[in-house]
Amino acid sequence: MSEVILGIDLGTTNSAVGLVDSGFPILLANEEGHRITPSAIYVGSDGTVEVGAKALRRRALEPERVVTSIKRLMGRRMHEVEENFPVPVETGVDGLPRVLGMTPEALSAEILKEMKRIAEWRMGCGITKAVITVPAYFHDAQRAATKRAGELAGLEVVRILNEPTAAALAYGLDKLGDRSRVAVYDLGGGTFDLSILEMQDGVFQVLATHGDTLLGGDDLDALILTQVMESTGLSEISGAARVRLMAEAERVKLALSTDQEAVFRVPFYDGNRSLEETITRAELEKLAAPWIGKTLRHCKQAMADAALKPEHLNAIVLVGGSTRMPAVRRAVAELFSREPDISQHPDEAIALGATIQGGVMSGALRQIILLDVTPLSLGIETFGGLMNVLIPRNTTIPCKAGEMFTNAADGQAAMRVRVLQGEREMAKDNWELGKFDVAFSPSPKGQTRVGVQFKIDENGILEALARDVSTGIDTVVRIESAAVNVDDSAVEAMISESVEYAFEDMAERVFTEARMKAEELLPAVEAVLNQGLAEEGERGEIESATAAVRAALKQGAANPLKAAVQRLDAATEALAARLVEQALDAALDRRLGGE
Ligand code: AMP
Repeated sequence: MSEVILGIDLGTTNSAVGLVDSGFPILLANEEGHRITPSAIYVGSDGTVEVGAKALRRRALEPERVVTSIKRLMGRRMHEVEENFPVPVETGVDGLPRVLGMTPEALSAEILKEMKRIAEWRMGCGITKAVITVPAYFHDAQRAATKRAGELAGLEVVRILNEPTAAALAYGLDKLGDRSRVAVYDLGGGTFDLSILEMQDGVFQVLATHGDTLLGGDDLDALILTQVMESTGLSEISGAARVRLMAEAERVKLALSTDQEAVFRVPFYDGNRSLEETITRAELEKLAAPWIGKTLRHCKQAMADAALKPEHLNAIVLVGGSTRMPAVRRAVAELFSREPDISQHPDEAIALGATIQGGVMSGALRQIILLDVTPLSLGIETFGGLMNVLIPRNTTIPCKAGEMFTNAADGQAAMRVRVLQGEREMAKDNWELGKFDVAFSPSPKGQTRVGVQFKIDENGILEALARDVSTGIDTVVRIESAAVNVDDSAVEAMISESVEYAFEDMAERVFTEARMKAEELLPAVEAVLNQGLAEEGERGEIESATAAVRAALKQGAANPLKAAVQRLDAATEALAARLVEQALDAALDRRLGGE
């Protein structure tokens, strides 16, 4: 039997664990029969630790000793800790946050230990490996903290998987056929993101993602509480009473997903005062409208980034507990002009996806690889170190494909053709099968044209041909080995890497494309400014947009650079149009003059 790898969704509010058993990915129920365990940790004054519903039950008596939403503190420094965190946060000797004297990693490790314990108890054997999911927006420190939490729990974390990728795996994006796309709308307790994923021949690509790590159902609970406090004239509440009132706010919110009316009721919340207030679904929806609106703005941004319209999507998959709210479903349906897919259990999809990924990695779920197709994509390196695919993975052989390339620099006299194999966005992350140089006579940038063609015969032998269009001279290289005969496990490793790094790859591609555009724009804009061609009114904005591009280049992050380049593009649009017009006029004058 292959080694078991657990799939764990370490959620802000709830967590879940699964594994592949007899070829089926399943989630495991705890002793209370629930496949979902609250991410709540009770730490007693004597050091006793309890996790899940047991911990939540302690909240009535010792609210200050029950920690929830610890995921929001993972990998964060003290100044990044939000106000109103449900339990008091102290500063540790290292300047990092502590809750009840414990680090966020140590507290998360208690949840992971519980997940491991449930799985071992169900399966009757020890299990030491796991795939753990994180929001796509988690940065390195947050991912590293999650990995450390796994290690503290006695687990080897074989992969940190992005939650939207997991949801798409659970939805079965790979089974929809070529070029299918889904948008995953994930609104949980603490985080929101909208990710658009495309599946091409079993390989995931992230087309766009937008979100906020501090936007979720917890915020709506706080809004409800503020509203109740305002309408009852309550101004101050102590920490312990606040925890009770927040729990009631959440209970009311959940009730209003099915009922039209609910009563917010907390008797003697501070020993002698009581609260009672009826809230209708309509009131909640009014309160929630700006909160839902924020998620919709991220959706629009992601769709714009991917240059997609709703009709280009196969489905909108809803995950995260907060998508149970009817108002959320309505708003999503309206924005995308179609009913969202709710076939996935909103609380279980991510753990199921992690379980499927664990199953693929352990070999318990095998991906079938056909022999008469290219097992991995073949392409060449182009500008900026990007992979340009000529023959996609799973193309039936024999086959042939080609593309035209131009020289990237003035006076360039040769082009290096690197033949690559793999599924990653950046050339450096794929395998190099061979390389050769094509010489041509020097010419201005973009004027030399070289056609590159790949041909694979029925024996799987790849022939790469490069033709200098002006001279008609061909350079041909035969690559006998790797194009088709790739070891199954190497193919699996490459594909699962493309899943693991899908988000990083996208960010790198966006950054590289924006950087290339910036490198082209900046000298051109500078020359125009130096020649004094800009009008007074536009000069200020062009200069400040130029400075923003330079700053974003230095900062090295993809989205800010993309936005800065777009701004510079917009700022120089009128000027560029004027210059083109002047050049045309001048050319016309010359012609007329010459006649
Ligand atoms: P998750 O982080 O995916 O576990 O989602 C947890 C969030 O979903 C919490 O803010 C819950 O209050 C919220 N939630 C769960 N069920 C419902 C429901 N029926 N209606 C509204 N919100 C819900």
